[in-house]
Amino acid sequence: MKVWKDYQEQHKDRFLNELLELLRIPSISARSEHKDDMIRCAEAVKQRLLEAGADTVTIYPTEGHPVVYGEKIIDPSKPTVLVYGHYDVQPADPLELWNSGPFEPVIKDGKIFARGSCDDKGQFYMHVKALETMTKTNTLPGNVKFIIEGEEEVGSPNLATFVKANKELLKADVILISDTSMLSMDTPSIDIGVRGLSYIEVEVTGPNRDLHSGVYGGAVANPITMLAKMIASCHDENNHITIPGFYDDVIESTPAEREKMAQAPFNEEEYKADLGVQHLWGEKGYTTNERTGIRPTLEVNGIWGGYTGEGAKTVLPSKAFAKISCRLIPNQSSV
Ligand SMILES: [Zn+2]
Repeated sequence: MKVWKDYQEQHKDRFLNELLELLRIPSISARSEHKDDMIRCAEAVKQRLLEAGADTVTIYPTEGHPVVYGEKIIDPSKPTVLVYGHYDVQPADPLELWNSGPFEPVIKDGKIFARGSCDDKGQFYMHVKALETMTKTNTLPGNVKFIIEGEEEVGSPNLATFVKANKELLKADVILISDTSMLSMDTPSIDIGVRGLSYIEVEVTGPNRDLHSGVYGGAVANPITMLAKMIASCHDENNHITIPGFYDDVIESTPAEREKMAQAPFNEEEYKADLGVQHLWGEKGYTTNERTGIRPTLEVNGIWGGYTGEGAKTVLPSKAFAKISCRLIPNQSSV
């Protein structure tokens, strides 16, 4: 134990600085203007894996952003761990809500504030440094493979194709993913599954052009109002989702499973305080952990239309839009 602790202690400043470097790359997978940043970030990940002692690292192009694959095979007869992570991040807006630049990391109270610091650059980097530490101190007990993709935040559209085409390459005894949440800051947690995702964009069209609300207002249905009504009607008074057939294939958790969940440490007051809310909201009949763990959900991720610029414009818009996502649980399918 001591050997790697010593190594970690000796090199921790460099470890930190390298992570900050990685956080400075605006690898926003959803925005096409960051395509070059994505490639730059993939190359940085490759470099770091090589420096950490990986035997080979390859950047595999995909239809979208590239996948970085690296490995350190010390003995094929020994067990292999496959580490999964992603180097892409979510868009950083709304920018005005940031106290410091999303890609200019700052350290406050022992925490790094930057886009991607805890999703997922910080986590996969920890594994890269673990590889380095074990390689450099001759304490690596098995084989390690890394797959660090660049499209997690946009639903990994090309990952399945890559995995299917590279089954032998990715073969492992254990897959290690540090891209989930903890029950609390001091409760390390092992997730055994995560909910799936279905993502849709809705476009509501009313009149064939934008209209003046002084001339047409009151006589024509406003697409924004209609969309708002549609969205509001997606949950009933018990916050149950009203879409026909939505729950048809759901496999309900057993009472024994729910009892186990209830034993997990969870402080609702702390949870509320952390979020700055007085009350929690959710599907009637389920606890907070059940709502976020074993129940399917529907959330509006964005809504727009009409005029949102400075000042006033009395438009009755032709169109309204929303992005909506559903978290899905076992046996549910998005198609
Ligand atoms: Zn993530």
